[in-house]
Amino acid sequence: MHKSRVGRDRLESLREALVVTGERERLDVIAPFSGDPFTSIPAGTEADVEAAVGRAEAAQTSWADRPVTERAAILERYADRVLDAQDELLDIAQLETGKTRRDAFEEVLDVVQTANHYADAGPELLESERRSGAIPGLTKTTVHRRPKGVAGFISPWNYPVTLSVSDALPALLAGNAVVLKPAEETTHTALLARRLLVDAGLPPKLFQVVSGTGERVGAELVDRVDYVCFTGSTEAGRSVAERAGRALIDCSLELGGKNPLLVLDDADPRKAARGAIRACFPNAGQLCISTERLYIDESVYEDFRDAFVAETRDLNLGTGFAYGPDMGSLQSAAQLHKTERHVTDAIEKGAEVLVGGRPRPDVGPYFYEPTVLSAVSPEMTLYDEETFGPVVSLYPVGNVEEAVERANDSRYGLNASVWTGDRNRGERVAERIDCGTVNVNEAYAAAWASVDAPMGGMGDSGIGRRHGDEGLLKYTEAQTVAVQRGIQIGPGPLPDWVWARLMSSFSKLLKRLPGWLR
Ligand code: NAD
Repeated sequence: MHKSRVGRDRLESLREALVVTGERERLDVIAPFSGDPFTSIPAGTEADVEAAVGRAEAAQTSWADRPVTERAAILERYADRVLDAQDELLDIAQLETGKTRRDAFEEVLDVVQTANHYADAGPELLESERRSGAIPGLTKTTVHRRPKGVAGFISPWNYPVTLSVSDALPALLAGNAVVLKPAEETTHTALLARRLLVDAGLPPKLFQVVSGTGERVGAELVDRVDYVCFTGSTEAGRSVAERAGRALIDCSLELGGKNPLLVLDDADPRKAARGAIRACFPNAGQLCISTERLYIDESVYEDFRDAFVAETRDLNLGTGFAYGPDMGSLQSAAQLHKTERHVTDAIEKGAEVLVGGRPRPDVGPYFYEPTVLSAVSPEMTLYDEETFGPVVSLYPVGNVEEAVERANDSRYGLNASVWTGDRNRGERVAERIDCGTVNVNEAYAAAWASVDAPMGGMGDSGIGRRHGDEGLLKYTEAQTVAVQRGIQIGPGPLPDWVWARLMSSFSKLLKRLPGWLR
């Protein structure tokens, strides 16, 4: 087995960047490939959060004063630094998550694309903009984009490179400082991703990291920052939103999903089956945008099912720090138990296992076979609850109307995938699906990797968007400065009734003027 090169000394040196203000209780960190606790992190406290936000705040003003092009240059260098240091980043991400190297590499690619996109497009988006103003020609109105201040990030364990830094990059570019609370399980991956940013030229104080639990460190962070970007479960997201509401700060919430995949009657069933493999089993199903529900037109159902089951059976599971295995481990015993619970409940209530359906302790302690079920009905937990594991359900449907209706019959609305022989038809169907992103003839990467387009959830899948213009501007306060020249706005020396008449005529005239004159 190709061994992880990350030694104890390296882990310890990464932890030096943590904000911990005294002796702290330790939390074990488990390597999912073996199930062994290989190191530990300090459990931060409210005082640590206070110290981290204080340091970030102190560094933020001079950072915001630097020209945006200088900030963008650091992002550009970061993209190169991540590519050059990818081996260690992949090693440490695999060590803490148990994912395959291929899945870990998708994270590297995401960070690089996001950094390059915002370095390139960000400066223009942040420029102050002239507007036509109250009285064209007499009111000079300008919109400025000011940083929020200190942006807080709370991230999950499933994509610890991407979800710890990719969202923070536009916040930094906009002139904010960052305080991150990474998932307890994957703190070292986040610390290395941050270290590379410092290597690329980011002043270290601008990016603070506090390790510890969500209930304590995460909750306190929401109370202290000027903006919070949360990625994780819908349940925890609600509690973050409540706290953010009380603190009257803005937030974005990237939450869970129960994502549908539609195979239309004109799709090539074999091609769709290969696509569905990529949609269902990346990171052993522990990807917020991976598919768990498949609606297949009856006319192609059997061909699709047979091809999909055969492809699923061929997936090879494996541990190790080299490229090769198709699917890695679940991240923890808790993830394994939840997956087992969902499958057992479904089988007891009449579901049929077409392939998989059992843990694989012979490969690793938390491995579970990629599993395809049919005859799944509403009383089963996994019918509408997110499993977040390698378990999916097949449903035959009579036509495209039924496919769309059933895809939309969910409290979630994160991502969807549509397979068809006619791309135009696919686009029209996609527009009727209640999800923040929809991929036509692709699993999830087409929409996700369109980093210049917004990405996020509807319904219980969240609030706000990452990527695109929204993914940068959300870290800013829009400020409007209006300078009035010549006449004042209001009746002045005129009687009120004369002013009211004048303004009525002026409003009608204004509407008739061509846009460029207004
Ligand atoms: P989780 O909600 O348990 O934890 C996520 C983070 O929030 C962790 O850092 C945790 O310590 C912290 N946290 C937990 N409770 C908190 C609280 N009350 N206040 C503040 N912080 C708190 O989620 P998880 O199990 O780590 O991740 C899996 C979930 O995340 C799945 O539901 C998945 O769909 C979702 N997810 C969504 C996206 C997305 O972009 N929409 C991406 C990845 C994962």
